[in-house]
Amino acid sequence: MQANVNGKILQLVQGDITRQEVDAIVNAANSGLRGGGGVDGAIHRAGGPEIMRQCRRLGGCPTGSACVTTAGRLRARFVIHAVGPVWHGGSSDEATLLGSAYRRSLEVADEKGITSIAFPSLSTGAYRYPPPAAAPIATSTVVDFIKGKTSINKVVFVLFNDSTYEAFCQALEQHLRQEDG
Ligand code: ADP
Repeated sequence: MQANVNGKILQLVQGDITRQEVDAIVNAANSGLRGGGGVDGAIHRAGGPEIMRQCRRLGGCPTGSACVTTAGRLRARFVIHAVGPVWHGGSSDEATLLGSAYRRSLEVADEKGITSIAFPSLSTGAYRYPPPAAAPIATSTVVDFIKGKTSINKVVFVLFNDSTYEAFCQALEQHLRQEDG
C-alpha cells in the first residue's frame, strides 16, 4: 500500500528491512545498543561488525530516543537505532515512548539531510507491543512529521509478517480517512 502525503511517499511493504534501498534503515534497538535478536540481529549480521563498534562507542540510547551510526556493508548510508518501549500492559507510558522513538528517528534523519528511510515495526516483537495498538502510533507519527518541512521525501514501513502488515494498512487507511473527513 502507498500513500502520498504533501508530495512525499509513504509505503507499506512486507519483507526484510536489510534489503531496502534507502538512505537510512531504522533498527529496533535496546537501550544498551548491545544487539539482540529480531530485526536488530538481522541488521548487524547483514551490515557487519563496524555497526557494533560504533554502538559500543555511543554506549547506549534512552528508551523513546534514537541514535545514528553508519551502515557498514548495508546498501543504506546510516542505521538509526531507535529504542521503543517494552509493553507492560499499556499504562507505563508506552504510547508516548513509542511515538517518541519514531519521531526522534525522523528528526535524526532530517538532521543528516536523509531523503529516504525504512522503519520496521518498533517494539512489536520481543518487546510484545500489540501491533493493533502500535500501528496507529507509528503511522500517525510519520504522517504528521512528513507533512512538515523535512529533507525526507520517502518513508517505507517494512513489515515482517502478515498480521503486522494488515494492522499497519488498517491504521494508515483510518488515519487518512479521518484527515479527509
Ligand atoms: P522489539 O524488541 O523492538 O520488539 P523485534 O526485532 O523483536 O524488536 O521485532 C520488531 C518487529 O520486527 C517484529 O514485527 C518482527 O517480526 C520484525 N522483524 C524481524 N526481523 C525483521 C527484518 N529482517 N526486517 C523487518 N522486520 C523484521
